[in-house]
Amino acid sequence: MTPVNQEISTIKQSCILQFCRKRDLEEGEVREVIQTKEVITIDDEDEGVEDKITAGEELKVDGDILCPICEIPLNSLSLERRYEHVCCHMDNVQEEKPTVLPKTKKRKARKKKAGKALKPSKRRRPAKPIPAHNILQFGDDRVVVDAFCYAEDPSIDVYLLSHFHSDHYGGLTKGWHKGKVIIATKTTVRLAVHKFHCPEELFLPLEYNETKQIPGTELKVTCLDGNHCPGSGIFILESIKTGEKFLHCGDFRISRLMIEYLLKWGSFNRIYLDTTYLNPQYSFGRQETVINATCKVLRKRSQCKQTTQKRVIDFFCKSEDLSIDPAEFLIVVGTYSIGKERLAIAIAETLGSKIYCTRSKADILHLLEWDELERLLETDPSKAKYCQVHLVPLLGTNKNSLLDYYRPYSNHYRAVVGICATGWTGVQRSEERGFAQPDEYLSKFVDAVDENDIYNVLLGQMEFRNKKEKEKDLFLTKLLRVPYSEHSSFRELFYFINLVPCDMLVPTVNLDRMDEHAKWIRMFKDYKGQLDLAKL
Ligand SMILES: [Zn+2]
Ligand SMILES: [Zn+2]
Repeated sequence: MTPVNQEISTIKQSCILQFCRKRDLEEGEVREVIQTKEVITIDDEDEGVEDKITAGEELKVDGDILCPICEIPLNSLSLERRYEHVCCHMDNVQEEKPTVLPKTKKRKARKKKAGKALKPSKRRRPAKPIPAHNILQFGDDRVVVDAFCYAEDPSIDVYLLSHFHSDHYGGLTKGWHKGKVIIATKTTVRLAVHKFHCPEELFLPLEYNETKQIPGTELKVTCLDGNHCPGSGIFILESIKTGEKFLHCGDFRISRLMIEYLLKWGSFNRIYLDTTYLNPQYSFGRQETVINATCKVLRKRSQCKQTTQKRVIDFFCKSEDLSIDPAEFLIVVGTYSIGKERLAIAIAETLGSKIYCTRSKADILHLLEWDELERLLETDPSKAKYCQVHLVPLLGTNKNSLLDYYRPYSNHYRAVVGICATGWTGVQRSEERGFAQPDEYLSKFVDAVDENDIYNVLLGQMEFRNKKEKEKDLFLTKLLRVPYSEHSSFRELFYFINLVPCDMLVPTVNLDRMDEHAKWIRMFKDYKGQLDLAKL
């Protein structure tokens, strides 16, 4: 080692030492260390975020950890209680909306409001009637899907819960009595019984690919894997009397197998469709492709660190009795409810780590009866530092909470990388330019997004923001926006709508964009080119 190198190494080490020692101090003091030493730079690169906040500013937000939903400060609560808080009012929140930081002014205004909202004001408005698109009607037999919070209709006995996300089960309670039976997959039943303690007898549990007659009706129901969160289903309902056949897709991610299976059913009279991403800007890649690209990026960054950051590692390893190898990044995967586990599993396996989460989160995950996940789960807080991958409920785009979460682990990890999985619009393939030739336009979406394109976008997010950062070879927080979605992409909806025959498509999401939906559905059905299912 040359003397010059030694000098650099001393500077780095002393600064990290200072950071670690100061980690229990107030945010402001940590900021002081960061600003005066200019070694650990807070990343503020966020092209996609609405308001650009510089690193200093972001840290100044009163040091509050805000609830991503109501924005009430949660500092005083333990992590577990924060999780419970968020879960508590998930019932009113549509899951998976891409999180966008509000404008600073807006945020302040909301915070004021949120302060008032702290006092429980339970003004109950009379329940609205069940929306038409939630009722599947076959003559006198009616099935209500994912609508538990509406006014009771005494003529309806059969309800269906497509999967265990709050915007679908909202309204379900222990004493819920609006219907006589709830159709759901076995996993969803376990989750519902665990959360609401409602009687198991209330449910008609289904395995995937199983058909049952619905008691008290002349209807049959078959459930297929919805490829959304664990336990999610898409449901085929048939009238024994008339042969009428409806498909309800709940929330789903289309796969080749799913379409192949559906094609065996012939034409459907109606398909209730998850239109969350029926927009060409949502052209993210296949799940496997995104998972591969994400793992590759994390592996590459870890490897390049090991060679260029030897001295920092030396610093951590110096002490003989240190029982763990300090890894480069703590990887924090954000997830509010069930879903996205596959991404966390793949990252953990790639890095050879276990997955740490709170006991209450693990209690829910155990219900999924997922062996691969079971083997990786760790809930003992004293072992958290040995797990490079953590599942956390609070992430969003709030780097404050990321930094706050990282602080107790700063002795063991040099930086924290937050993984924010969303159907975000990472890889833009073409701008929309009229539809004079719809076939020409749509032919751009026949092929899936290339793994290399995703890899490059993700790698770009892990790059250093400026020259100084690169020279110092340091960052403290990075938020990796991974285009991993459990809803179908625009391209997959194109395949589905073009290939699965039906008389009538009923969109169930983003109902304020019906005209747009109708436009795409028409274009997809009229597409003259070839769609080969094998390419999906
Ligand atoms: Zn969902
Ligand atoms: Zn949903």
